Amino acid sequence: MSLPIRITVFWLILFCAIATGNAWAQNIDEKGVPKEAVAPFVIANTEFTLLHELVHVLIDEAGIPVLSREEDQADYLTTVILLSQQTGVTRKTSESVRPGAGQWPLENKPLTNSALIRMQNVIDAWRIEWTIIQQDKMEIPYSDPHALEIQRLYDMVCLTYGRDRKRLEDFRIANELPKDRAELCEEDFAKAERGLEFIKTTLRNNALQPLISGNLQPDFALKIKFEDATSPAHKLFRVWLEHASIIPQLVDSINKDYFFPRPILVKFRVCGQPNAFWEPRNAEVNMCYELLDRFVHLARYHDKYAVQRRKNALGKAKASSAFQ
Ligand SMILES: [Zn+2]
Repeated sequence: MSLPIRITVFWLILFCAIATGNAWAQNIDEKGVPKEAVAPFVIANTEFTLLHELVHVLIDEAGIPVLSREEDQADYLTTVILLSQQTGVTRKTSESVRPGAGQWPLENKPLTNSALIRMQNVIDAWRIEWTIIQQDKMEIPYSDPHALEIQRLYDMVCLTYGRDRKRLEDFRIANELPKDRAELCEEDFAKAERGLEFIKTTLRNNALQPLISGNLQPDFALKIKFEDATSPAHKLFRVWLEHASIIPQLVDSINKDYFFPRPILVKFRVCGQPNAFWEPRNAEVNMCYELLDRFVHLARYHDKYAVQRRKNALGKAKASSAFQ
């Protein structure tokens, strides 16, 4: 459920950062507060991580069947939800209206820029992770329950490209998705979206059965709690998440689409480690503020390992096509 590889990488980087003295300088000020410029990257990766954990919750609590590796399924459903219009998970008020029951799917609107930027930030984080693993010659955990970072990256690129293929050719090239894989992506996205539709319809019908038979089920819901943070950075994260992220809308949206057999709490808190995990025993999703520290740290490498790399890949492709 948690993200062990990223965490291992984080502590290694942190150790090196302490050893070199000024490693955090680019992204935080002298008081240790992250700069506003990294907010979109940190928020997007927090949104993705939270939603990934919530898919685990939906599997355990709301009855989503597992038909493949659970971690892959969590990534797929998370990506499709973030890319789909009907979830309303976007920062623009005009786009935040969700359809009612039976209105799925909505007309196939173009992918919004905010959704595309969010996915690119998540994809870039996996690119940074994989680059660090390669550069540091770290052991590759083939037996991990998660796919490798580079595989998770390509799956997300493929689903995103498949969502709006005609418009996203440059996105495909910049993210180095080979043509033979790209040919499958539109169908991959359509299948994943149909899978989500099937799950929502089935679970909604199941949830309605007690109502039809006259046995009203309790109105249990997913709730979100931001525990008090002490450090200036963690206090700022809370402000970002409450006011600039889609997280409140996301929780609201899930509560309208799914029924839970017991109350579930999403808790942002200080954990002592950069992590995110679902605890069925306590019915709690723990989102550690330290995980956001880690995203701030990864953002140091964003330009070099992700943005510049994308620009180079696109530039090379365009230059070579000019002579064909
Ligand atoms: Zn997971």
